[in-house]
Amino acid sequence: MSLTEDRTIACPSCGAASTTRVHKAVDVTVTPELEAMLLDGRIFLFTCPSCGHRARIVEPELLYRSRELLVQLDALGTFDAAAASSALGSSLPKTVRVVRDGNALVEKVKIAEAGLDDRVVEAMKVLAKASMPDGDGKRLLFEAAEGEGDAARVRFTLLAPDGKAAGVGLARAAYDRLAAELAASGRLVDPGPWVVVDEAFARALLAL
Ligand SMILES: [Zn+2]
Repeated sequence: MSLTEDRTIACPSCGAASTTRVHKAVDVTVTPELEAMLLDGRIFLFTCPSCGHRARIVEPELLYRSRELLVQLDALGTFDAAAASSALGSSLPKTVRVVRDGNALVEKVKIAEAGLDDRVVEAMKVLAKASMPDGDGKRLLFEAAEGEGDAARVRFTLLAPDGKAAGVGLARAAYDRLAAELAASGRLVDPGPWVVVDEAFARALLAL
């Protein structure tokens, strides 16, 4: 079930208080129109009615749900997996993840839409960053899988610590090879629900 809440927010620019609708849960099995709003960031956009200032507001415990995927944002580190499991019971979809910020939530949705495995994508990001100058301080966010055959690419946004963003395209063949290697190694097991599949997870997966 999708869930919204009207909330009074003080504009970060002019200070004027206004009431805005905040999405607490996005269930695209019942409200599919929210999917596009989530992917292009409109769902996080606050526009001040007094001064027109725009700000990004991310509900710290936003929940996303589709038929295949459930992503729980836990920005405050207060999420209770046991309570969530008992509340949702056996109705959990195949993939259930916890993420730490809004970018990671949107990224999980994009990875699932592309039909890719987020564990392999995270491993691919670790390897790609290791080959970049100053890769450690940067962040790769999956955008899309594009193209066919030899031209097939996995496209990312590269975020630098200063906030600068650039596009990065990696060969789809590298993803496929990594997926095959990880599967052959026997390490690509289902981690179970409510796992954070991030860089630390991928480092363990790659035995780094
Ligand atoms: Zn304002």
